Amino acid sequence: MTRFWAVVPAAGVGRRMRHSMPKQYLALHGRPVIEHALETLVNHPRISGLVVVIGGEDSYWQDTAFAGHPRVQTVPGGPERADSVRNGLDHLSASAADTDWVLVHDAARPCLLPEDVDRLMDQLQADPVGGVLGQRVRDTMKRTDAGCRVTATIDRSGLWHAYTPQMFRLGLLRRALDKAARDGVAVTDEASAVERLGMQPQMVEGHSGNIKVTQPGDLTLAEFHLQQARNH
Ligand code: C5P
Repeated sequence: MTRFWAVVPAAGVGRRMRHSMPKQYLALHGRPVIEHALETLVNHPRISGLVVVIGGEDSYWQDTAFAGHPRVQTVPGGPERADSVRNGLDHLSASAADTDWVLVHDAARPCLLPEDVDRLMDQLQADPVGGVLGQRVRDTMKRTDAGCRVTATIDRSGLWHAYTPQMFRLGLLRRALDKAARDGVAVTDEASAVERLGMQPQMVEGHSGNIKVTQPGDLTLAEFHLQQARNH
């Protein structure tokens, strides 16, 4: 039977938050952001195990609720997100098959709903490529020059925001990320590495609250979404 695993890159320093503590450890409803991000995956009955990728200098992980958890293993990260994910996948390949599915989820996305994980799995488990949780773009989109003058209005039909988890088979994803690294191409998500192999990942519509904590105001927004999820 094909299994599902999760790799959670958590080795970033989060400079855009202008905070001394990496954003995945900032407090959200009294718990670090990363605990919220992991909780949905650790408690998900269809996920066989998790690999969390931790920064070399990280002194915060050991104090989180999931340090030492039997379903969670850790590995050290790399200089870019894609390097961290590759380390996680390399580690996973000792216990997982190349045909197993891997869900890569950012530690900085604390509002992942279990039903979105199920939707991703259900829609993609028979797919030859894999895909990404996201949201259709709802606003009118503009392209500008360096001076913020509009050079074009982009047709938004067919445009999506790409979130995580992104779900691909372990062997394919390792091949895709290794090739991007060999080619010296910096990819910011798993799907773009797979696209470079000439494949077309599928977009799966998820909940709009699955935001990434990037800027200071995002924590307030994440708190709101967590509260909404609790009230349901
Ligand atoms: O910086 P960004 O928002 O793209 O980070 C997305 C996720 O990737 C975060 O959870 C961050 O901790 C992780 N990351 C990583 N290794 C890096 C850079 C970012 O695991 N070198």
